[in-house]
Amino acid sequence: MSSNSIVIVGGGHAGAQLCASLAELGQGSRIHLVCEEPVLPYQRPPLSKAFFKKADEAVQSIRAATWYEQQGIEVHLGDPVKSIDPEKQTVHLSSGKSLAYGQLVLATGTRARQLPSLPTNLDNVYTLRTAHDATQLRTSLESVERVTFIGGGFIGLELAATLQSLGKQVTVLESQTRLLSRAVSPQLSAHVLGIHQAAGLDVRLDSQIKGFAFESHRVTHIELASETLAVECVLLGIGAEPEDALARQIGLRCDHGILVDAQMKTSNPHIWAVGDCSRFPWTPELPSLRLESVQNANDQARTAAQSLMGQTVSYQPMPWFWSEQGSMRLQMVGLMPAQAQTQAVHRPFSPPTQTSVSDVAAFSLFHYLGERLLCVESVNAPMEHMMARKILEQGLSPSPAAVADTASPLKNLLA
Ligand SMILES: Cc1cc2nc3c(=O)[nH]c(=O)nc-3n(C[C@H](O)[C@H](O)[C@H](O)COP(=O)(O)OP(=O)(O)OC[C@H]3O[C@@H](n4cnc5c(N)ncnc54)[C@H](O)[C@@H]3O)c2cc1C
Repeated sequence: MSSNSIVIVGGGHAGAQLCASLAELGQGSRIHLVCEEPVLPYQRPPLSKAFFKKADEAVQSIRAATWYEQQGIEVHLGDPVKSIDPEKQTVHLSSGKSLAYGQLVLATGTRARQLPSLPTNLDNVYTLRTAHDATQLRTSLESVERVTFIGGGFIGLELAATLQSLGKQVTVLESQTRLLSRAVSPQLSAHVLGIHQAAGLDVRLDSQIKGFAFESHRVTHIELASETLAVECVLLGIGAEPEDALARQIGLRCDHGILVDAQMKTSNPHIWAVGDCSRFPWTPELPSLRLESVQNANDQARTAAQSLMGQTVSYQPMPWFWSEQGSMRLQMVGLMPAQAQTQAVHRPFSPPTQTSVSDVAAFSLFHYLGERLLCVESVNAPMEHMMARKILEQGLSPSPAAVADTASPLKNLLA
């Protein structure tokens, strides 16, 4: 007879939200949460932001240990799932323990992408994904003056701006011709570059790395096309790969992420996948999508909880994301198309009261494909971002002229 347990593999944002949503549905006592990391699920975004500003800043748990106990959730810390037996509906943990499941949810997130030409065991090369990574890096940086980032993506730029504000000498090597090229518009890339450069970051675009020089387990130089750069400490921020190894081992359908339907079900009827590791159906133009954001992890977990309970649900999100880089709070809603030519409408924003951010540029960019509003990017304009979210969630496409009219509040454009 099969077990009634729900086993969740991965104690990140998605795993934690799934516990909460299932507990709300009265299912807490059925849950086993299996965590690779030796700590309870915690907030990952602060790790590239507030965590580095103070030496004693603590990692923030999403919920206390007592909460899991009260819900009857059994948490297995520091004991990753090693293999799954889909025939016997059992997972095997590294400790040798086995757990039978009626329903299994993979919430294994991503792992930091590595550079094939850079060995992974060097003493002065770091990646940032976990609380352990952040703690180790914060300690190491105490004795470092110069930090070189490889990659100008969100996590790298957030940390680069923080370290620069702490007095470190920071260089960012970006292989593309603009920053954040996979996620934001060229207009926003240009703004972000200008702000970072004005603050003193040494950003080098179109930097093609030709090779590295090493000395006793350390990288000492990076060879670029035009020069050889001496380095003290290297931060690798070149993105992440979906952690789908378990799914592949048992033959679940994967394509750079675990393929799920709109109910978060994988190709095995007893297995679901949520969060950064999953790839879900999207639009006819872009048939499947994998997102890396807290919004996506939480909302997919809520959908999966209902699906696990046999309810009919369909995950159709309006994706949103935020990033904090120095004086900039960036907020995006919707998706920028990778290829298509969009038209951008710039809407300046004046904060209602004179605050500390009043001397920092604040605006939103409304991006249209033809007459369709696709995506809104906001800089230091959180209220405008919230309104833009409502506009897009309601499926509205106000005209560019209406959006450009700053005399009229965005809320007037809502249905
Ligand atoms: C430094 C940093 C800053 C970020 N900032 C932002 C931000 O500002 N805004 C935003 O929206 N998003 C941000 N993100 C992204 C966001 O944190 C992720 O999208 C989110 O954590 C995804 O949740 P998840 O549960 O899918 O994966 P994760 O939170 O990565 O959790 C996956 C968990 O699964 C565990 N696991 C993997 N394999 C196994 C196994 N075999 N057995 C057991 N456990 C396993 C992993 O150890 C990990 O704990 C940031 C990420 C990082 C790293």
